[in-house]
Amino acid sequence: MKYLNEIQKRRTFAIISHPDAGKTTLTEKFLLFGGAIQTAGAVKSNKIKKHATSDFMEIERQRGISVATSVMSFEYKNTLVNLLDTPGHKDFAEDTYRTLTAVDSVVLVIDCVKGVEEQTKRLVEVCRMRDTPVIVFVNKLDRDGKNPFDLLDEIESELKIRLHPLSWPINMGRDFKGVYNLYDKSLLLFKPNQKATEEDYLPLENLNDDILPVRIGEKDAAQLREDVELLEGVYGDFDRESYLQGKVAPVFFGSAINNFGVKELLETFIQIAPLPQHRAVTTRVVEPSEDKFSGFIFKIHANLDPRHRDRIAFLRVCAGKFERNKYFHHVRLHKDVRFSNPYSFLARDKDVIESAFPGDVVGLFDTGNFKIGDTLTEGEDFYFTGIPSFSPEIFKEVVNKDPMKTKQLEKGLLQLTDEGVAQLFTQFGGNKKIIGCVGELQFEVIQYRLLNEYSASVQLNSLPFYKACWLTSKDPKKLAEFIKFKSSNIAEDKDGHIVYLAQSEWFLNTERTNNPDIEFHFTSEIH
Ligand code: GDP
Repeated sequence: MKYLNEIQKRRTFAIISHPDAGKTTLTEKFLLFGGAIQTAGAVKSNKIKKHATSDFMEIERQRGISVATSVMSFEYKNTLVNLLDTPGHKDFAEDTYRTLTAVDSVVLVIDCVKGVEEQTKRLVEVCRMRDTPVIVFVNKLDRDGKNPFDLLDEIESELKIRLHPLSWPINMGRDFKGVYNLYDKSLLLFKPNQKATEEDYLPLENLNDDILPVRIGEKDAAQLREDVELLEGVYGDFDRESYLQGKVAPVFFGSAINNFGVKELLETFIQIAPLPQHRAVTTRVVEPSEDKFSGFIFKIHANLDPRHRDRIAFLRVCAGKFERNKYFHHVRLHKDVRFSNPYSFLARDKDVIESAFPGDVVGLFDTGNFKIGDTLTEGEDFYFTGIPSFSPEIFKEVVNKDPMKTKQLEKGLLQLTDEGVAQLFTQFGGNKKIIGCVGELQFEVIQYRLLNEYSASVQLNSLPFYKACWLTSKDPKKLAEFIKFKSSNIAEDKDGHIVYLAQSEWFLNTERTNNPDIEFHFTSEIH
């Protein structure tokens, strides 16, 4: 098999969490271990703060940061780790969902004080759609959090995921003493702000080792023995295969800010996390070890400088070898394209690269040739599947305030929606342009960028819709009748798919009951 060494070296993943659980802090500690950054504080949070909802500078700042940190690659112990960043703010959740299609696994951070939060649930649902393997990191053990057994119960029931703890905390908050590694049966003792040097590890023959009570006290030693006996009885041996199939999530405990438990997490991650995986395409399954290159675009980022219209398209390499200046087949446009300046995200040399392998993400300068979901191959015609568009929840009609700028407006709307900033629908019969978003903040971004980058001034009028559902039916006549009958609620998405815009949950349920031959879908896979 070609490039096997390259494939085996790579791990491509994302860290996900509800805002504030510690994603940025954990990312930073990983990068410090990987030598990709030298000092703490180098990774800027890409959070948009609540109070800054209307602050356009904040939006620009956010875009700047998210270009710079979209992908962070580093080497650790001969493993090439590609860490893909995801926006924390829920209004940009779609961007996160799409990024998750480009990773092979995720690390989910949970705050031990807050437990499972709203965004945690949504993110794990998306992981479940593709059976993406998940490792859970329970963070902030230096604070008084929930009892760890209760936390496991909560995570299992709220996220509908089976867990397998691989480490176990000795107390929390002020009494926090460390974590016991159930995997290699060693004890890691806690000192705030430590660098996790070797001497903090206490290898133990077994939990009856005399050194244990000496280091953590009789009472805690007894409690640990009891806990571990219980855990081993309940969970048994860790089965990596179940983890790789997305059926069981290993759990680690630690404190990112104190750099505690992070090295353990990273080391276990590189041992157990999946290599670049095979992926389904419209015609077959693509294996990473195939000779011929293929990959897809999962994210597009506009240039921050409005005088330059070029954008950066993020390509996930799925098979074969990507090469600079080599012609590849752009499946949707039926044309061959090549790239003279493909961009690597390796922190040490953020520069033009000659080649890339499965698992890698390459930045391609784009002058408007790419849409999210586009596929590049060495000639074969197929698309990677499973890149979803989610049903938007807020809808606004676009009203052009300057008829002289109609062309610019249309171009801007097309380009921004190609980037995945929002979804664009055209009302049936009418021609009314409707933008659908997940969060209010996205509308502000659109209005601001249309004006600044395309000189198009628009007014956005709220529409009383609650959800967009993609419609399909085995009975074309029934579908045609429904479209005719409900024409004011019917629109087309950008790819010409029929969409029903429901005014309320009640209307939606009624229509679903009354039209059993029509299927209502809440996501539309781009392919
Ligand atoms: P994100 O929104 O998930 O990226 O979270 P951040 O990494 O920005 O962290 C949110 C807040 O939690 C920050 O104030 C961090 O300093 C703090 N934090 C992160 N890890 C820990 C930890 O282990 N213990 C405590 N006490 N605070 C932490």
